[in-house]
Amino acid sequence: MTDDVAARWEDLCVRVADACGVVGRDADEVAILLAVKTQPAALVRSAISAGARLLGHNRVQEMTTMGPQLAGAPHEMHLIGQLQRNKARQALAWATCVQSVDGERLADRLEAICAEQGRSLDVFAQVNVSAEATKSGVAPSSAVALARHLGGLEHLRLRGLMTIGANSPDPDVVRSGFEELAALRDEVVASGAPGTAQARELSMGMSGDLELAIASGSTMVRVGSALFGPR
Ligand SMILES: *Cc1c(COP(=O)(O)O)cnc(C)c1O
Repeated sequence: MTDDVAARWEDLCVRVADACGVVGRDADEVAILLAVKTQPAALVRSAISAGARLLGHNRVQEMTTMGPQLAGAPHEMHLIGQLQRNKARQALAWATCVQSVDGERLADRLEAICAEQGRSLDVFAQVNVSAEATKSGVAPSSAVALARHLGGLEHLRLRGLMTIGANSPDPDVVRSGFEELAALRDEVVASGAPGTAQARELSMGMSGDLELAIASGSTMVRVGSALFGPR
């Protein structure tokens, strides 16, 4: 099992590098975050041994359970699932980055906790480019406003925008969502608002659509099943 994870991690790195090569990008422009939801800590440790450094949790509960189990294993923990304001403090005990900021009230809550604790936090604004009701994130029409709000908060560092691609068999539909996120990122960076000039990252692309995302400018793919197998 452990060997399998190491081999699949290598395969995944090659797959990302190949996807970059196809569109003339350097492989080191795209980080790989492992979406570790429902996986046992031992398997996640194997992935870290194989070279994974960025981990993402969907649920605060799973993050707080796994946190102590990964002590001593070099990694960074991101929250990639929806965060309720009353769980923000728990999340911040483990997360160095919240990719799923989907509103100003959550942003303000994160800012208040960070100010109180004298720390900073990396954030992405999550945008629902596919408008699927099951997905969180702000509507594209509100994305720039949310990003500007985040950029203005003293203890938060806006890194860019995050999305979950459309659940569609049509690659053109998926691609157009990714292209929309890239265009919104350009708008954010061009806005000139405080804290937005460096917000160039695009967290987009998963096991099934990472090539499309990389072709559209992704700087971070979030991968689960390609490494851990189907859930
Ligand atoms: C599960 C998950 C992923 C990874 O999805 P896979 O299809 O398993 O690669 C990426 N992002 C988020 C927000 C997820 O919940």
